[in-house]
Amino acid sequence: MLSQLLYKKGIESVVLERKTRDYVLGRIRAGILEVGFVGLMREAGVSERMDKEGLVHDGAVISFGEEQFGINFKAHTGSNIVVYGQTEVTRDLYDAREAAGGKIVFSVENVVIHDADCDAPFVTYDIDGAEQHVTCDYVAGCDGFHGVSRQTIPLEVRQEFEKVYPFGWLGVLSQTPPVHKELIYASSERGFALCSMRNDKLSRYYIQCSLSDSPDDWTDAAFWKELKRRIPAEHAAKLVTGPSIEKSIAPLRSFVTEPMRWGRLFLCGDAAHIVPPTGAKGLNTAASDIHYLYHGLVDYYQSGDGEGLERYSEKALARVWKAERFSWWMTNLLHRFPDQSRFDLKMQKAEFEFLRENAGAQMVMAQNYVGLPY
Ligand SMILES: Cc1cc2nc3c(=O)[nH]c(=O)nc-3n(C[C@H](O)[C@H](O)[C@H](O)COP(=O)(O)OP(=O)(O)OC[C@H]3O[C@@H](n4cnc5c(N)ncnc54)[C@H](O)[C@@H]3O)c2cc1C
Repeated sequence: MLSQLLYKKGIESVVLERKTRDYVLGRIRAGILEVGFVGLMREAGVSERMDKEGLVHDGAVISFGEEQFGINFKAHTGSNIVVYGQTEVTRDLYDAREAAGGKIVFSVENVVIHDADCDAPFVTYDIDGAEQHVTCDYVAGCDGFHGVSRQTIPLEVRQEFEKVYPFGWLGVLSQTPPVHKELIYASSERGFALCSMRNDKLSRYYIQCSLSDSPDDWTDAAFWKELKRRIPAEHAAKLVTGPSIEKSIAPLRSFVTEPMRWGRLFLCGDAAHIVPPTGAKGLNTAASDIHYLYHGLVDYYQSGDGEGLERYSEKALARVWKAERFSWWMTNLLHRFPDQSRFDLKMQKAEFEFLRENAGAQMVMAQNYVGLPY
């Protein structure tokens, strides 16, 4: 995304990716785009398919056992979200970069960022057994949680904040129509479930599971049976099941590293922060980082104004922490925790009822869900 945005402003970049193109496009991940993300897709000139095929959602359903209510994002904020898979976003961006002659090098190995705290940083990597060298003005560390960028920042400079949740999400993708036109976030005695989708014929469902589970422990039949037990009976009765196309388990974690800039290296997205997926903020928070870095770079190259780059970490973190708070809050509201007391359960129920009855609380949730302003 950053590479494509910069290209539109005449700024050159090279993208290094350690996996193959096919591998990246086969990786099933996020699918809910905030209003700001949709704006970036348009600004990058890659929104044609998203505008045609993306599903516009004005709200979502929240259930607690058999009780349920809808939150209308559009009524509370004037905005909506768009359901369009992360793999489709990436495909559109790859296609656009390739059509414009952009340089994306796949299957790179041994990426090392050198001299990021000096005026002349460079990056080395191996491809087909030969070392390559890229000199540059700046390095955008967009290489995810397990990449090398964050590790490049010395430990004495870095501060890390982490919360690990005692459960994971088992996700299933299936070629079946979604059970409901809107997403259903369900809290039940047996744990959390989410009914999501990618399009009218492709559904994405999740259930809270134990961290010791493996996807092989769950047959498709066992998954569907458990999902039905966690959502209101009205929806369970309508659920269309089918073979899973993809099945995976993701552990849930909140994580932030500070600062997000070290010299000429800027951390973006999962390289700097992770959220539990409950609030659909992972991909969207990566995008807000890109917004701040993109504008900082454009201001610097077009008018010599370096303030945006100087203040990148401060601006990005201010929004990141709010997305962390919202994701943590939704996770706490909707999941069953192993050490939860009877008092804790009453608090969850009271929070659910307050949200159901209080327009102010719904507005706060809607503002966060469609995305806080950049
Ligand atoms: C299984 C899974 C399911 C998810 N589901 C959801 C969801 O439903 N909703 C949601 O909002 N978010 C979800 N997320 C989170 C969301 O996908 C991420 O927040 C988002 O992809 C972050 O984008 P990014 O560009 O920072 O990192 P990534 O998308 O991880 O991209 C980083 C890239 O860097 C590459 N890379 C890593 N190391 C190196 C290296 N050393 N050299 C070169 N390249 C390297 C990786 O191969 C990868 O392609 C999910 C994540 C996972 C893992």
